[in-house]
Amino acid sequence: MLETRKLTKQFGGLVAVKDVDFSLEHGKINAIIGPNGAGKSTFFNVVSGLYRPTSGQVIYKGKDISKLPANKVAELGIARTFQTTHLFEMATVFDNVVVGHRLRTQSNLLDSIFRTKRLKQEEEKCKEKALEVLKFVGLSKSVDRMVTNISQEEKKRVAFALALATDPEIVFLDEPTAGINPDETAELSQLMEKMAQQGITICLIEHKMQMIMKLAEKIMVLNYGEKIAEGTPDEINHNEEVIKAYLGG
Ligand code: ADP
Ligand code: MG
Repeated sequence: MLETRKLTKQFGGLVAVKDVDFSLEHGKINAIIGPNGAGKSTFFNVVSGLYRPTSGQVIYKGKDISKLPANKVAELGIARTFQTTHLFEMATVFDNVVVGHRLRTQSNLLDSIFRTKRLKQEEEKCKEKALEVLKFVGLSKSVDRMVTNISQEEKKRVAFALALATDPEIVFLDEPTAGINPDETAELSQLMEKMAQQGITICLIEHKMQMIMKLAEKIMVLNYGEKIAEGTPDEINHNEEVIKAYLGG
């Protein structure tokens, strides 16, 4: 469904992602692991249209989407979260999701100026959708709380809700469980499994190995921008290259 072909991204002389061929398992949990600076976030940034690749392609449903800007990629059903969540701290959980959703599905300028009937209908839909996804991520009771007053783990759930509000087919999650404790990590893992059960394809970047080995069905390992291994958790666990990369050999 989504694959990259010889995907490369260079920043000046630095090759952050190099010739990466990868395809996502449809409706499954896929993961990308690798040491810091390996190019994981850059890979996401290129696939989600934030950066143009230096060379290579991103193919989605048979079409080359490598030159599309991020909003167009999002419209195709590819959502993402960021390594650090950007939320409006002084707004409610509900408003964060509504505004985020609106920014991604902007109606045209004339609609906004004249506040047309269509716009009002769209806003109603946005609000309904926000409640639906907040319920899905387990935040029904927190919709009216200010983001600044909720826990780190709840903020992660808001970020998930934002991604889900666009009805994505694929969700890219950049270190979704960074900075939260093991119990909270287990809860978020369950949420990711629930998303996959709904048929959403997930691709996550993660450092917590135990969790990845339990959760993911397909893993790609990046090191210095290059794919050094790919396979099931069991295959990755026994891969010499991977062991070397992690031990710094
Ligand atoms: P990871 O997410 O695996 O830790 P990144 O993709 O963030 O790694 O970074 C890979 C390499 O690319 C790093 O050396 C980083 O400094 C560099 N890099 C990432 N983004 C940029 C950018 N916008 N401009 C220049 N260099 C960047
Ligand atoms: Mg990163």
